[in-house]
Amino acid sequence: MVHEILVWPNPVLKQKAHPVAKVDDELRQLIKDMFESMYAADGVGLAAPQIGVLKNVIVLDTTPRQPDSHPVAMVNPEILTLEGKCLYKEGCLSVPGEAEDVERAAIVTARYLDEHGDSKTITADGLLAIAIQHECDHLKGVMFVDHISALKREVIRKRMKKIQATIEEDRAEEAAAAKPEKKKARSEAR
Ligand SMILES: [Zn+2]
Repeated sequence: MVHEILVWPNPVLKQKAHPVAKVDDELRQLIKDMFESMYAADGVGLAAPQIGVLKNVIVLDTTPRQPDSHPVAMVNPEILTLEGKCLYKEGCLSVPGEAEDVERAAIVTARYLDEHGDSKTITADGLLAIAIQHECDHLKGVMFVDHISALKREVIRKRMKKIQATIEEDRAEEAAAAKPEKKKARSEAR
């Protein structure tokens, strides 16, 4: 099921996610939903808090840019080592239409549980390394905009507020348009 992705500065995105105690069917369904939501939004990574679920789960798929990588779901990911530095223009599904340079480590080694609950270790570079750091940040309530200047962040915050207002207006219009339909359907049924 495709879920709505929360738009920053939604307060849920500022909260810390919690460790997953058990990798079960319910969690596997969450992972499936997260992949579907990420693909529907044309993203390369998604963290559970972005769909309002405060659990330590991230999904990644950088294969369009890194053909030798593969889609991966990480439960309770933990960054073990960070090496080197790189600058990359990052975007985020929760900050639509925005991209800013963020400095990250170039190579990441992380430990996580896969969708079967098995412990795995991954060493990644390129976009996957950046995406792992970006998504792990989400689990701590940190956004990529927290890594840029306060001035740029405030400009983006204003644009996001406008987007949010448009979304709410559209919803109100849809709700208003839906009401007479229901009444009509009821009178026809009589
Ligand atoms: Zn993000």
